[in-house]
Amino acid sequence: MRNENIVAQADIIIKSRILCDHCLGRLFGLLGYSLDNRERGRAIKTLLLMNAYSVNQGIKDEELIYALARSGFEPAINILKKFNKDVKIEKCEICNDIFDKLEEIAKDIALRASEYEYNTFQIGCHAPLEIIRKEENIWTFHNLENAESFKNEFTRELGKIFSSITNKEYSQHSPDLLIVVDLTNNSFEISSKSIYLYGRYRKLVRGLPQNPWIYEKDERIKYDTSIEELITKPLISLAKASGAKFHASGREDIDVRMLGNGRPFVVEIKNPKIRSINLLEAEKEINKHGQGLIEVSSLKFVDKSYVSKIKALSEISRKVYVAVVKFSKNIDENKLVELEKFFKNIVIIQRTPTRVLHRRSDKIRRKTVYEVKAKRLNDNVVEFQIECQGGLYIKELIHGDEGRTKPSFSDFLNNKVSEILLDVVDIQEIV
Ligand SMILES: [Zn+2]
Repeated sequence: MRNENIVAQADIIIKSRILCDHCLGRLFGLLGYSLDNRERGRAIKTLLLMNAYSVNQGIKDEELIYALARSGFEPAINILKKFNKDVKIEKCEICNDIFDKLEEIAKDIALRASEYEYNTFQIGCHAPLEIIRKEENIWTFHNLENAESFKNEFTRELGKIFSSITNKEYSQHSPDLLIVVDLTNNSFEISSKSIYLYGRYRKLVRGLPQNPWIYEKDERIKYDTSIEELITKPLISLAKASGAKFHASGREDIDVRMLGNGRPFVVEIKNPKIRSINLLEAEKEINKHGQGLIEVSSLKFVDKSYVSKIKALSEISRKVYVAVVKFSKNIDENKLVELEKFFKNIVIIQRTPTRVLHRRSDKIRRKTVYEVKAKRLNDNVVEFQIECQGGLYIKELIHGDEGRTKPSFSDFLNNKVSEILLDVVDIQEIV
């Protein structure tokens, strides 16, 4: 498109529509470089006025001068004033002069954003459908191929002003702060990028669930406290966050302790106002809040990918358990020596345990037991140390689950199990 065409097109457009400098310039927004639409619009209006009036010939195109003056273009207004003609300035029919309010909007957002710790931001916007329709109608009606959208310009120009007020940087990818302006109701929302923290927890007591909701005999029961709550609550408060999500690398039963180096977990801290959490302080705070029930260690900042990583690893990482098992009959010491030999690098075939069948599908899994050490504590009580692959159900390895787990300690010793006290004492560190 040659420049004379731009002027000719703009001549027709401005005579039939009231457009502010921004909205007129945006119709030709993809032309030129390093210009903003306001400059484009003003330049076009200037050229139009040069066609409509000259000092030698006076008013050549009165309709055009009126049209320009109505859109608020001061040089056109001044010509009309000179000839004692009145004109009523009207609001832009696309944007309703919203661009005049950018500074005010940016200041409002900056004030609320100052509650957040952030370096980068991004701005999005919900534009009223009528704005989008109106400008698209103009593009079609006047066959305009180089127009830019309202949303593009609005968010970019607002971003420039916001950046100059706050000294923060715009970021296309993964900004700390996401600002969404809703022009349908003149409001805006701010949300901040989640923080992901990796750590390991030790559970020092029995009877504490990992999540507040747990299944007991087919019933879903809410516990007063949980590992999740004990860990996330202090983090939410330190980060002044709106919430948190807890992800662990597997879970131990409610009556099983998690000792040794602890179980890996990742906490997603949602919508944090503080990003620079002091991890040593966080660890201290959680351990204080944990009241001897739980402890955490090795806290570090990670990215989102750790959530799926630690979940996948729970199925393969080596684990060591200590189980104190009470049998119904007395135990022969020699039989324990045989058991240690038999359960060395052996594949256990395990159908989904009866106790979890109501929420897990019935399938067969094969998991390896690498090594078992057995120590008789008294006539019918044995302490086993079991090193195995992740994902093996240990209680079932011990009592056999009525033949659903094979082989089992109970079958091998031909002795019924009456009680198991279980601890996880080591989980291999792989991430
Ligand atoms: Zn406008």
